[in-house]
Amino acid sequence: MAQPSFYPAHGAPVPATNAAMALGCPWCAAPSTPSAIVQSCGRCGRSFTLSAGPALDGSIAPPPFHPAAFRISLRWSIVVTYRFATLEPQGITYGTLDPVVGMAPVDQSQIAYPDVVSIAVWRKLALTKCFAGALVPLPIALFAAYGAILAVAKAPGVAAVLGLIALAFGLLAAWLLHQGIAVGRRQARIVGRWTSFTVPFENSPSFYAELFRRCGLAPPPIP
Ligand SMILES: [Zn+2]
Repeated sequence: MAQPSFYPAHGAPVPATNAAMALGCPWCAAPSTPSAIVQSCGRCGRSFTLSAGPALDGSIAPPPFHPAAFRISLRWSIVVTYRFATLEPQGITYGTLDPVVGMAPVDQSQIAYPDVVSIAVWRKLALTKCFAGALVPLPIALFAAYGAILAVAKAPGVAAVLGLIALAFGLLAAWLLHQGIAVGRRQARIVGRWTSFTVPFENSPSFYAELFRRCGLAPPPIP
């Protein structure tokens, strides 16, 4: 099946800059080797996975282009505007959306699945969620629990209400900290022959699974 004309032709060599980035640690760019399992960087010690794509390893065959393949879109905010990434039938589109309505792309670039050189995946702490959990609901939960303990002998009704407040805010704090630390901000760096981009994908597990599947790869564990 013919590829759209905006995708570069396949089979061309990978330019040196993209080849070096494709085989670099996503944290510090130290040289690393693709692997099916989570690895730790020899220089910075941080964890990530690095998978060779079809443009690097000729034995990897992406599934045939299917014009009716479904699209998976992600959108996330960067200070003023939004960025987006979409898995399309032919490849991955990435770009910036207009700052007014956040709907129309103002710039975009694309990597066809057969042109993927490597995919690196790593996880950062989602700091805003950690702070939001630690600064607001956690103190309220502790304060309400403390009040409930003080009130339990003299005013059981007040203690019950305070206990419920402590429970509700405790659950909220636990959820935010779980989102911030255990789920985190999951990043996928996709290096193609001619361009590369990094997509935060924690809001879409199907994006992760489909990205690898359409490149002809089994998804590695998330670090
Ligand atoms: Zn490193």
